[in-house]
Amino acid sequence: MTATGPGRPPRALDPADILDIESLLTDEERLIRDTVRGFVKDRVMPDIEDWFERGHFPKEVVPELGKLGLLGMHLTGYGCAGANAVSYGIACMELEAGDSGMRSAISVQGSLSMWPIWKYGSEEQKREWLPPMAAGEVIGCFGLTEPDFGSDPAGMRTSARRDGSDWILAGTKTWITNGGIADVAIVWARTDDGIQGFVVPRQTKGFSTRDIHRKLSLRASVTSELVFDDCRLPADAVLPGVSGLKGPLGTLNEARFGIVWGVMGAARSCYETALEYATSRVQFGKPIGGFQLTQRKLVEILVELGKGQLLALHLGRMKDEGRLRPEQVSFGKLNNVRAALEIAREARSILGANGITLEYPISRHMNNLESVFTYEGTHEIHTLILGEAITGLPAYR
Ligand SMILES: Cc1cc2nc3c(=O)[nH]c(=O)nc-3n(C[C@H](O)[C@H](O)[C@H](O)COP(=O)(O)OP(=O)(O)OC[C@H]3O[C@@H](n4cnc5c(N)ncnc54)[C@H](O)[C@@H]3O)c2cc1C
Repeated sequence: MTATGPGRPPRALDPADILDIESLLTDEERLIRDTVRGFVKDRVMPDIEDWFERGHFPKEVVPELGKLGLLGMHLTGYGCAGANAVSYGIACMELEAGDSGMRSAISVQGSLSMWPIWKYGSEEQKREWLPPMAAGEVIGCFGLTEPDFGSDPAGMRTSARRDGSDWILAGTKTWITNGGIADVAIVWARTDDGIQGFVVPRQTKGFSTRDIHRKLSLRASVTSELVFDDCRLPADAVLPGVSGLKGPLGTLNEARFGIVWGVMGAARSCYETALEYATSRVQFGKPIGGFQLTQRKLVEILVELGKGQLLALHLGRMKDEGRLRPEQVSFGKLNNVRAALEIAREARSILGANGITLEYPISRHMNNLESVFTYEGTHEIHTLILGEAITGLPAYR
């Protein structure tokens, strides 16, 4: 399974992987990493600065991600790749090394939209939606957050009431990734039987979207408001397999796992950029990487990056063994997003003035990571989840 078995000489020290985490991956996992890395290099890097500057998400990459088998890749059947959790994490890491917007695209499609259909949907819903979503022909979005209910979704106002056998869906969701380009929305609404999930096709009468502009973060990603003006949905629009907040929260847990990995990709990109810059930029007659203060920054970055990558891999192996708990995912999200943000800030300083431009990826990653710090459970909410786990005392209110 591993590259370095007993008796094999240690590999030369690789500044990009000083702990030789490479050796902990299977051949298949390495292949997925190399494939996604190649895709990012050829398809994302040449244009990402332009997309980010223009506030543009290139919708046409979604079917390409589908062709690579990355959409719903950790799900089985219905056209999904059936890869392990570590492979999914690796794909997230490589995509986010390009841009958090790219990783958000597969998180929202595979984890937030396809996963609830796969987990809670009827056989008919799975057959109808999952194959075209896996292929990237149909784009999904996940609507939980509302203007007045972000961290506290239990208070949501969006409602679905029965009218004969139909449902009438009314309310507003906001900050919804891919909302404006989605062909189908997974919408969580209050019903007489508690919170339930609904599969809402784009063409549903009364369903409209409005994109949120002037973002300074995740600019290469569409973020929108969803409005449901008494939308009539058939009886079978509801996801039959779940009711209550555990529906959306279970779904979010899937996507958070991808974030634990993804942000380490953004952090790696910052590290590699800063390392290269430090060895070529000369001040006071020598490369700035030759000053102790710069080396300290680079080493702090290196250590946090290695720890974060090992944590992601550990959680990934636990997930593949079926024993990963939501609190452990919170641990990973809390640590790795915070670490990635600190790495980005430290790396930015190494580039001096150049660090604030779009010519280098660091400020772009840093701004993106501010969104990642907030979405899928804010840093504070994950702190409270862990606080409750260790004390038994919920401190949310
Ligand atoms: C770019 C982007 C994309 C997004 N995509 C999606 C999506 O696809 N689908 C979706 O449903 N949502 C999405 N979101 C919304 C995101 O999940 C919410 O922004 C998040 O849950 C926080 O909600 P809020 O912004 O309303 O902040 P609030 O809940 O108002 O929180 C504001 C601050 O108060 C803190 N706070 C709140 N409660 C407590 C407490 N009890 N104790 C201590 N501190 C507290 C928070 O941690 C935060 O620091 C996205 C957000 C962004 C920025």
